[in-house]
Amino acid sequence: MKKQFAIIGMGRFGTSVAKTLSGLGFEVLAIDNSEQRMQEISSIVTHVVQADSTDEEALNALGLRNFDVVVVAIGEDIQASILTTIIVKEMGIPTVIVKAQNELHGKVLRKVGADKVIYPERDMGQRVAHNLISTNIIDYIELSEKHSIVELKASRKMIGKNLRQLDIRAKYGCNVIAIKTGSSMNIAPNAEDLITEDDLLIVVGSNEDLQDFEKMFVE
Ligand code: ATP
Repeated sequence: MKKQFAIIGMGRFGTSVAKTLSGLGFEVLAIDNSEQRMQEISSIVTHVVQADSTDEEALNALGLRNFDVVVVAIGEDIQASILTTIIVKEMGIPTVIVKAQNELHGKVLRKVGADKVIYPERDMGQRVAHNLISTNIIDYIELSEKHSIVELKASRKMIGKNLRQLDIRAKYGCNVIAIKTGSSMNIAPNAEDLITEDDLLIVVGSNEDLQDFEKMFVE
């Protein structure tokens, strides 16, 4: 059976999550306490309900406890976001993902049981900053406080060399986990694989090592 998702708070972030899941063919229940928001989203998502998520009885009446994943995407009202997280966690929802406004909010969310805390603005800011450093850096994903993945365009220094010659692991402590050539993706690159023009490299490493690597190879 397909996973069932409920999204609470239909701001820009919640709406984007709901829209994407719906587009991928998943059942989504969208909850917001604003009647206007609900009207706006009803053409995009199949099930929309107007409810205050800090009202435990209202959430129970919606049968929320049967859902696999709940995303709490309430931003500004930090109190409502925390209360909602406590309520849905106490209901026994296996995966509760919550959007945080700042680090302190995130810390509290973790303490009350959020399975995953996300910081969309902070993360997007980091991604944009990494993109700005060089046009070679296509994307950046933070894995933990200390580790990330970068996707970068092969630079002139790499083209025509194989992974053994580039010796990225020994020199920079980073691992090339995939090489994208046109529409094909090599997800298990080996030492003899050649880097060609317009290849994209997906590299994992500590932030420090990745920075050294980027500085060395990126033009
Ligand atoms: P974004 O950046 O994603 O646009 P935001 O961080 O500015 O959103 P808000 O606009 O404060 O977040 O909240 C998102 C949505 O959550 C709003 O549509 C708001 O009506 C809804 N919301 C706020 N409190 C509650 C609540 N207690 N119950 C249900 N929905 C709520």
